[in-house]
Amino acid sequence: MAEQTPVFNRLALIGAGLIGSSIARAARERGLVRNIAASARTEATRKRVAELGIADDVFATNAEAAKGADLIIVCTPVGVCGAVAQEIASALKPGAVVSDVGSVKSAVLKDMAPHLPAKVHFVPAHPVAGTEHSGPDAGFAELFDNRWCILTPPPGADAGAVERLKKFWSGLGANVEIMDPLHHDMVLAITSHVPHLIAYNIVGTAAHLGEVTQSEVIKFSAGGFRDFTRIAASDPTMWRDVFLHNKDAVLEMLGRFSEDLSVLTRAIRFGDGKTLFDLFAHTRAIRRSIIEIGQETAEPDFGRQRKKNEPAVPIARPYASD
Ligand code: NAP
Repeated sequence: MAEQTPVFNRLALIGAGLIGSSIARAARERGLVRNIAASARTEATRKRVAELGIADDVFATNAEAAKGADLIIVCTPVGVCGAVAQEIASALKPGAVVSDVGSVKSAVLKDMAPHLPAKVHFVPAHPVAGTEHSGPDAGFAELFDNRWCILTPPPGADAGAVERLKKFWSGLGANVEIMDPLHHDMVLAITSHVPHLIAYNIVGTAAHLGEVTQSEVIKFSAGGFRDFTRIAASDPTMWRDVFLHNKDAVLEMLGRFSEDLSVLTRAIRFGDGKTLFDLFAHTRAIRRSIIEIGQETAEPDFGRQRKKNEPAVPIARPYASD
């Protein structure tokens, strides 16, 4: 993507894993900011960020990273967003835009907003793009290309700040949409959170079936099971926090899921092929429509097979973990 006019002068990334480091790479490559500060929890990650050269300055504390920044994006697991807001609050520059990338929005808004001073603009965000990999090495500049980024500005948010953040995410390659945080959490519960829970559960169930079966699971995992193992390899800390912080929406969607599963169980028990066929035909049409709008490829194996010379971490088309 061509270089653009900077949208912000200094960007601070609190947390520099898959998402933070992808933002750093894309923002720098596309000229969206003039310089980048980063912080991370551990010395090992900070050292790696410095080695990769994806930030101009790497700091040991979140407050130092946030100081003087025009855009601060919290890229940590959602469980620590509130504590991070508290740490950076006194270092924030008047007029700065504070945002995040958390997969849950109502809880992040509730946890962060009370700590932020009135002189800054808080506009939470969620890029709906990811992989099952973590850490600064997993990031890549193309992660957000043609993916959605959902902004959930609180009522009365500064329109200019929302517009600048929108411009920033568009510059990173994303399609931006504004949404109410509760609505976001419901939508993501069914499209992302419950599917991850199902993957974690099915892989866990298979693992409990005993050693003989386990080896068969590995042997025959070329089937649909392999896609579940990929999703179930997603970061445990991130996903623990997602379920703890989107509890109500996930429980609501799990309830509906269980009811529908009972219908299928009953159809199998009573040999009701029509119910099964009708649902499978409907879901096949849904997948086709997802491909048509460009959010997935029609390649066999979901396009996941690595091509010769392609790095282990995909660079062209992320296979959304989120
Ligand atoms: P990640 O690769 O595990 O990176 C998390 C980063 O946060 C690491 O650099 C970690 O530092 C840092 N961190 C943790 N606690 C911190 C603290 N108290 N202060 C400063 N830094 C801290 O995770 P990720 O996949 O980038 O996910 C980050 C956020 O993006 C999550 O909120 C997640 O919900 C959201 N998200 C994820 C995806 C996805 O598919 N992965 C997609 C969209 C949104 P250390 O390495 O030193 O521990």
